[in-house]
Amino acid sequence: MKLEFELVPDGCWYSNLRSILSPAQWDYIRKDAYARAGGKCMICGARTGRLEAHEKWEYDEENAVQKLVGVIAVCRSCHEVIHIGRTSLLGGEERAAEHFMKVNGCSYAEYRRALGRANEEHRRRNLVGEWKLDLGYLKKFLK
Ligand SMILES: [Zn+2]
Repeated sequence: MKLEFELVPDGCWYSNLRSILSPAQWDYIRKDAYARAGGKCMICGARTGRLEAHEKWEYDEENAVQKLVGVIAVCRSCHEVIHIGRTSLLGGEERAAEHFMKVNGCSYAEYRRALGRANEEHRRRNLVGEWKLDLGYLKKFLK
């Protein structure tokens, strides 16, 4: 699927880069993503003047490593789907479900199944005691 949920495990030290980078460093990385996007959401392709930066992480559960694999520019609708937990708490699940189905060309049943899988994965990752952070991705930015 083009657009997927990304639930950050509860035990992760850093759920966003802003807390570990200086404002100038974060700005540089964010703007690099916007420049690559060229005014279009990097997931659904929607043209928008208001892109948001999204940090992509990979989780190696066996070795408890949380690895930053990229920063991409996405539209608000895609960002709401990605962070479905927070979006639901704010009452936006219906809108997020619609966007998910539109972008992925799938049914509501498939949306529910994908959400079930993401929640399952989230529960499993929450069993990992302590995640180690791999920020190798940032090396090309921070000199
Ligand atoms: Zn989008």
